[in-house]
Amino acid sequence: MDNDIERVLYSREDIAEAAKRVGGELAHDYENKTPIILVVLKGAALWAVDVMRYMQYTEVEFIDVSSYNGGVASSGEVSLITDIKSDVKGRDIIIMEDIVDTGRSLMFMKDLLLERGANTVKTASLLDKKEGRVVDATVEYIGFDVPKAFVVGYGLDYSVEGKEFYRNLPYVGILKKSVYAPEHANLVDADITSTH
Ligand code: 5GP
Ligand code: MG
Ligand code: MG
Repeated sequence: MDNDIERVLYSREDIAEAAKRVGGELAHDYENKTPIILVVLKGAALWAVDVMRYMQYTEVEFIDVSSYNGGVASSGEVSLITDIKSDVKGRDIIIMEDIVDTGRSLMFMKDLLLERGANTVKTASLLDKKEGRVVDATVEYIGFDVPKAFVVGYGLDYSVEGKEFYRNLPYVGILKKSVYAPEHANLVDADITSTH
């Protein structure tokens, strides 16, 4: 599996440090509050558990939205796959994301939560692919910035025909182009991911 990685961007140690930093910020900002950690399935699961260890109080909920439908580029349409189980009215929500790219998924979830009467909605994302943004979705807590390339590891997968690969890598790295586009192996990453 390591052979499919072009370049490691963030090591296991880098990520542990980021989780501690972001967890500490959240613990401080939500002191004496009772936030709901909203884990965006499935990629953010690892990041969420690592971050929440540093917080005093959290309730945990899950949501699954889809904008990628597998593949390596955003489809542009966001759909709700699995809804939240509890009432968010009047609650402070912290959306836990693995990566924010176009921002469409995040915008979709923020709108949904605010429509349902959430008191505040903030986002803590492991990765921020700022160059990919097409809608104005702000991420308040960021682990790391990443370049506009398709990255995998530490929760983020590359899925082929329902099979999920690389989620279990302990680090975050850029997937080799030859893995998902063998015929385009000579292109630069930006040529492949700039389809939205
Ligand atoms: P957005 O709606 O911001 O375009 O996309 C957000 C979702 O797309 C992320 O939560 C993630 O599931 C997926 N995604 C975006 N960029 C990447 C990437 O580089 N690698 C992987 N594995 N997933 C990505
Ligand atoms: Mg995600
Ligand atoms: Mg995925």
